[in-house]
Formats: sequence, structure tokens, C-alpha cells
Amino acid sequence: MKAMIGLETHVQLRTATKLFCGCTTVSREPNDNVCPICMGYPGSKPALNRKAVELGTQIALALNCRVAPEMWFSRKSYFYPDLPKGFQITQYEVPLASGGLAEPVLCGKKAGIRIRRVHVEEDPAKLEHEGDIMTAARSLVDYSRSGIPLCEIVTEPDFESPAQAREYLEWLLSLLAYLEVIDPRAEGVMRSDANISLDGGERVEIKNITGTLMVEQALKSELNRQIGFANLGKKVARETRLFDGATGRTVTLRKKEEEEDYGYIFEPDLPIVGMDAIAEGVGKAMREMPEVALARVERLGVPRGLAHAVVYTPGMLAYFDECSGGYGKPDELARWLANDFLKCMHWNGLEVRDSPKPELIVELLGMIDSGEINERAAKDVIKEMFAKGKGAREVMGARAAGKGESEGEVISGVIRDNGKAVSDFKAGNARALQFLIGEVMKKSKARIDPKRAREMLVKQLNAGPG
Ligand SMILES: [Zn+2]
Repeated sequence: MKAMIGLETHVQLRTATKLFCGCTTVSREPNDNVCPICMGYPGSKPALNRKAVELGTQIALALNCRVAPEMWFSRKSYFYPDLPKGFQITQYEVPLASGGLAEPVLCGKKAGIRIRRVHVEEDPAKLEHEGDIMTAARSLVDYSRSGIPLCEIVTEPDFESPAQAREYLEWLLSLLAYLEVIDPRAEGVMRSDANISLDGGERVEIKNITGTLMVEQALKSELNRQIGFANLGKKVARETRLFDGATGRTVTLRKKEEEEDYGYIFEPDLPIVGMDAIAEGVGKAMREMPEVALARVERLGVPRGLAHAVVYTPGMLAYFDECSGGYGKPDELARWLANDFLKCMHWNGLEVRDSPKPELIVELLGMIDSGEINERAAKDVIKEMFAKGKGAREVMGARAAGKGESEGEVISGVIRDNGKAVSDFKAGNARALQFLIGEVMKKSKARIDPKRAREMLVKQLNAGPG
């Protein structure tokens, strides 16, 4: 029996503001980022966010699609509480791009997945159901989500197994994170609708599945259901189903005889967008595809695991390239970036773009090579570089100054607090000095070594009033 699986995947584009208004995309509490446009007030007019179109174009080009010379938006009309305008602004007749091909390695084999279309649309608001969607007595609406820019990537039914579908989504997620067109840490960054049919039978659609693993589980469960039907000689009905993660089964959401009529009409408040100049600009600025970058970094002598971290950590490849300009050991550089650098970044909740500048990391690595600092100390220094946003030399300078001051203070403190031992020493008792050295060691938590403590004590005791 042969399964045919297709995916429609929505990803949230990484923009500062929403698709058609100036509200920010970052929300801290429900309904904190809303305005008349994303609330759908009568008379409000959308204005297109060019950045979202550029990010969508980047995705289209990375998936080898043809970008349309001109595109426009349409109103998809339906009624739902999360959609105050009564329509969603999306693309229908002419999407941003179509006719692409993705060639990831899926289940150990290079696949050819045809991309039917890539388009940009707004997200509706978010409904918070009190309990289960089917039985909730009340639902709340968060309009902060309303108008968040999404990109929808639709494949042809080219996957043959649920595992292939999952691996494609994982590949897609890392590709888009690499391109920095999505924020992989954003909540609900990826949602998919999956469709599946068996041996040319009716197509069943499973709506709104989050994550990648869940898609595989939903498809497996639906595939088993369809195989069960086939074994009993029953026909699968064409319908839309929901996957219930708790029971691991799909349930009927609605039966549909044919495609629903959303009464698409041209969106008159937005212009027709000429795409040639945008596609050309985006194409020129596009970086190499991650597989190509991985091979290039490996050719520099960087082991595969480290090269993988460098390439697939968003923003790190450009950072690595910039550091490489000033530092001649790519493998050593990658080792630092993929380990201590990455750890410090995560501890401080930062991204590569907010981390210490490349020249500062080059400086630190140069200091290790010249023996100015050993590797263990460097691991502490890099932590402070991240925490304080300073360079290695500045961190070390501040430490040396801090150390000198407190050394003197520790010695004076010990002399002040141990009058008896001091007078014993002055009376010629050598064991009293031993005792004072011990006190210094205790107070400085062994940071001052005994030899230095002796020198400093003797100097201060001899200089002090007799
Ligand atoms: Zn708004």
C-alpha cells in the first residue's frame, strides 16, 4: 500500500512589527499589542510590511521557487471569533512564489519534494479555550497574535511515510533558522496541516499540528486508520480531522464534499506588488545554502560536529567568517565558538548578534596562543566578557587592579586584627609570622600564595610604627 502525504506549513516570519500595522510582534500579556488595523475596526487601512515580503522571498528562493513578477493579496472570508474583520488577508490566485523543489536527505535518501507554493498571510487572533476545544464553556481572545506575519509553504503530496514528513519539517526548520527568517525560539514558530491518502483513495486532512514529532504521530495514527479501513474493504471519507495528542488518535472535525467556498476577493486596500526588484535584491544578498557552508567550513579543517554547530547556530556562520579574517586557526576558533562561546551566550540569554564583537574573541584567542593567559583562565575571562560586554584585556586589567587592592587590604586587616601575634613577631617570635601567614591564607581563600603573604607581611610590619 502506498501513502501519499503532503504538508502545508505555516512559519512565523521574524519581523519587528506585524504584517499590516506598526504593532510589535512581541507580546508580554494578552491584548497588549493591538491597534484599529489588527483589531479590524471599520475604516482602518492595512499597510504592507516590506520586510515580511523580503523574508518570504528568501524562503521561496531557498526552496528553488519561481517568484511571481507581480503579486497581490486577497480576502479569505469566513466568520470566526478570532477574526474580527470577517476575513483574513492572505494570497490566493497569485502567491508570492510557486513551482519549487526541496532536496533534503530524508530517511537516509536524497529526496525531491516539489513545492507547490509559498505565500505570505496574516495570522488571526488566538483563542484560549477554558479546557478542551470541543467542550469549553468559555473562550478568551488574544488579539496580540492578530496580524503576525506568516509564511505558508505548501508541498505536493510527495512524502511516502510519516517519518519522511517529520524529517522534512526538521530540515525546513533548521534551514529557516539558518537563513534567520524565523526565530526558532518563538512560541508556535511552526504549525502544519498534513494531508494523506492511501493508494489513490480519498484525501484526509489533519489540521493545525504543532511541532515536528506531533506531525509524525498524527500521520502514523491516520495511516493506521486508513490501512484498517482498506483491510475491511471500506472506503475512507474525504474529511478534515484533528489530532488528539492525549489519545494519539485523529477525530473528525468536519466532513467536506468539496473545497469550501471562502469567497476570495481581491484586497483593494493593498497595492499590487512588483516582485522583480525585491527578488533580485534578496537573491543577491542570499548567503550560501547550509549544506554548501558546511562543506566549506569542513574544508578549513573543522571537524564535522563543530562545523555543524557553527553553520546551524543562527548568525554564527557570519561571525565565524569575520573572526577567521583575523585568526588563522579555524578549528580552534570553531572549538571555542561551539563550546564556551555558545554556553555563555545561552546563559546570558543572548543571540550571536548581541555577543562580544568578533575582534574581541580574536583578541582572546591570540592571548591564549601567545601564552599571556592559559586556557582555564580564558574560560573564566570569556564568561565575564559576555556578562559585562567587555574585551579580554579589559576584563583582565580590572581583575589585576581588584586583586592588588584587596591583597593590601587583606594584609592590613590581618595585622590590625592580630595585635598579640604582631607584638610577638616584633619581639622576635618567628612562629608568630607563620600564624599571620596562615591568617592571610584563610582570609584571601588561598588566593594570595604563602610566599607573597610572607613578603607583604614582613614589609608592612617593618614599615609600621615600632
Ligand atoms: Zn496593530
